[in-house]
Amino acid sequence: MKASVATYGSHSALQILKGAKDEGLKAVLLCPRSRLRFYDRFRLADEVLLVEGVEDLLREDVQEKLTEMSGILVPHGTIIADVDIGRFVKGFRVPVFGNRNLLVWEADRELKERLLKEAGIRVPRTFSSPDEVDCPVIVKLPGAEGGRGYFLASGREDLSKKLESLGVRAKAGLYLQEYVVGVTVYPHFFYSPLKGEVELLGVDRRYETNVDSLGRIPASDQLSLRLQPTYEVVGNIPIVLRESMLEGFYEMAERFVDATKRLVPPGVIGPFCIEAVCRSPDDVVVFEFSARIVAGTNLFINGSPYAYLLYGDGMSMGRRIAREIREAFETSNLKKVTT
Ligand code: AMP
Repeated sequence: MKASVATYGSHSALQILKGAKDEGLKAVLLCPRSRLRFYDRFRLADEVLLVEGVEDLLREDVQEKLTEMSGILVPHGTIIADVDIGRFVKGFRVPVFGNRNLLVWEADRELKERLLKEAGIRVPRTFSSPDEVDCPVIVKLPGAEGGRGYFLASGREDLSKKLESLGVRAKAGLYLQEYVVGVTVYPHFFYSPLKGEVELLGVDRRYETNVDSLGRIPASDQLSLRLQPTYEVVGNIPIVLRESMLEGFYEMAERFVDATKRLVPPGVIGPFCIEAVCRSPDDVVVFEFSARIVAGTNLFINGSPYAYLLYGDGMSMGRRIAREIREAFETSNLKKVTT
């Protein structure tokens, strides 16, 4: 029986299904009932398993069905955001494409910072208490993700005023990170354990509301309207990096791969993203990573400039994942790409 690629209906599912089909694998959609009509429009799934929500991935009958069809789950951001990741890592018995333990590190801000530091990657300063703050900070409230629930403070005094007005009295769990002024870039990498190689498959930046709209409002009006930036992603915009910057990003990605091998064996497998702010072309700070497919890759379902250089037409991240699964399956190496 050929391998099936399964994914949950949200985030980057269309691309993952299309990639599986393009590589001749069976595409299985774990589809929330409320989104069936939407996913039907694209007719990409060879088989649909209806669920109520993403937590249903842990349901016994769902896992049994996936096992029967030799399913391999491709995880994406919804699993990180909406599932108790510890429970998922332990309780999900179906093979997962990638290193499932790394998802735990992605979901924990302190572990995340540790891994980036282990890789020798420059990260923003963090402050363990509001009293230590001596620069602009971005405040990431406990549980906040995807830019929702973040706010900016220009310094210590501004921070204490804002914390008070928010009624955040219990200051434990606040993540206070230096706000780095520069442009954000999100390079999408793929590490192939079969080839032992890192590939750059695309770069995007996020289109975030309201921060990306503030420049359209004159500064004096921003002041009188008392506008505060927020960082919620509504879409993604393609980027090509200056060619002279690419090598630096490759080196960072390779150090990241090595660090994951040391701290979270067997290390990263497949897609990951290094989320960076560039103060200047040679002054790059990394504030996050994702250890799975990121939604910015949805820009490149038909391939990016970099994917074109490596593979010719039509290589998306979803298809690259499916190709690795197919090649691993054909050479009896599935254990090298799944956990
Ligand atoms: P995240 O959810 O961590 O990816 O952050 C959401 C958005 O907040 C990012 O896309 C950036 O626009 C912004 N951001 C997060 N951390 C920083 C930082 N340390 N410095 C500057 N901007 C940041």
